[in-house]
Amino acid sequence: MYDSVMTNRTFKIGDSRDQGSLLPARVEDYVGPANPVRAIECFVCALDLAKLGFRHAKRGVGAGQPPYDPADLLKLYLYGYINQVRSSRRLEREACRNLELIWLLKNLKPGYRTIAGFRKENWAALKAANRSFVLLLRELGLVGGTLVAVDGALFHGNASKDSIFTRGKLAKQIARLDQEIEDYGKSLDTNDAAEARQPADGSGDGSKGGGDVGDKMKELMARRERARADLKELETGDKGQVSKTDSDARLLSKGDQTIAGYNVQSVVDDKHKLIVASEVVNRSDAGHLHEMAKAAKDTLDVKALQVLADEGYYNSEDLKACEDDGIAAYVPIHEGNRKLEKQGRFARKDFSYDASDDVYRCPAGELLHPTKKSWANASGRVEIRYLSSKMSCDACPMRARCLGPKATTRSVFRWEHEAVLDRHRARMASEGAGELMRRRSAIVEHPFGTLKCRAGYQHFLVRGFDKVRGEWSLMALCYNFTRVLNILGFDRFTAYLAEKASGVRESSLAAALRSILLVWQRFRANIMLWFEVTTSRAIPAT
Ligand code: SF4
Repeated sequence: MYDSVMTNRTFKIGDSRDQGSLLPARVEDYVGPANPVRAIECFVCALDLAKLGFRHAKRGVGAGQPPYDPADLLKLYLYGYINQVRSSRRLEREACRNLELIWLLKNLKPGYRTIAGFRKENWAALKAANRSFVLLLRELGLVGGTLVAVDGALFHGNASKDSIFTRGKLAKQIARLDQEIEDYGKSLDTNDAAEARQPADGSGDGSKGGGDVGDKMKELMARRERARADLKELETGDKGQVSKTDSDARLLSKGDQTIAGYNVQSVVDDKHKLIVASEVVNRSDAGHLHEMAKAAKDTLDVKALQVLADEGYYNSEDLKACEDDGIAAYVPIHEGNRKLEKQGRFARKDFSYDASDDVYRCPAGELLHPTKKSWANASGRVEIRYLSSKMSCDACPMRARCLGPKATTRSVFRWEHEAVLDRHRARMASEGAGELMRRRSAIVEHPFGTLKCRAGYQHFLVRGFDKVRGEWSLMALCYNFTRVLNILGFDRFTAYLAEKASGVRESSLAAALRSILLVWQRFRANIMLWFEVTTSRAIPAT
């Protein structure tokens, strides 16, 4: 019977549009029992939005149209970023036609301005929500808290490369404009001369290009003035670049890639490749090692932490700060430009330090003693100078490989905290360091690979640090959220969130009861005062 029905049709046939009902009658039936959208619902219900700082979260009943509940807008954004729908206009459309979103928002249909406004106004709260999810990962035991890797990834900003200027670029632009102005000046002169040569009876060719050239000249001069003003701003400030479209975006380079945008710093835990700390910056990776490792250590609330980073993070001040904070950093040693080695001369690493006598020993076995005076180098580091003896160097057979053409002695400079670098060198030479460094990229590339290649998130939609940081928080939160759902499974994750949500409800109820009690106490005090005043007026003085 079934076969005959199947074979009697040419194609599969859909439902008739004239039937009374197409979708299930209950909105609840729009999504299945294990649909991830239910996990989003559970997660947002478990958040204390007022505590996280979401706008309107503390709002009581008021006059006029009530705003959208921030919980609903957060659910909309989480759904959107998990499903690669980011723009406010697309989210508006999806809220009207996507059954999962209709279920999630209970058929609310916020406009695109409201949706965009939520992301702009709540950037700090989104950051806090992202951090609170990391704390939840800790509670769930999904982070190891012993080994993390840090790295930066470049994301395009909402600005073009042409809208960002460096000093060199501005200088070239001014030179080009100078040349164009000079050329147009010559054109004007030629034009004037041609006009002067035309016969007085008007029998010439009648060309009158001077007006156009004059307008063009004015425009070029105005552009040159703007470029000069920008250059002055760069020379007097400490920005290094001027960005016209997004004032915080910068031209950033890594390898052979140059972008106009931001550098996203992420710290990833080794256990499940979850992001435990992140920040959006507009500089290179250098100088961010301690800041990021410390943020991860504080969030993980551990006493000691191992952090892995690539050579771009090598910085002596950072290594010292990490050591001071109980963070063991594994960073390949940056060898500098190896100028002396290229010249065939002994480099600093050929001189060994003897801590017991506070001396350096040169390749010829002679000692270099510290001079009394220490000084700060160009970057402000205080260093001690160790000097060889002239007599030893004069008689040394290796003199040509050691000293400069005019030098009579050799100096080696030691940073006042060089012991930190000695310990770091020993750590990097230790057994197991090589294996750790091989694991580094596998740990830290996981989130960036997932976000950039799978989700296609290579750029930010918004402008300025605050909003960009809010958008990154959404990306990081959605990465962690999806990953936890995969690791734990829907049932375990939602059961945990439901338990947490009941705690939030109880504390909200307790807070509400406390505020009612406070209002009642004030009301009672006022009533008593009023009663006393009224009674004293009513009793005539005797
Ligand atoms: S030149 Fe002086 S410092 Fe250099 S190896 Fe010879 S003795 Fe040592």
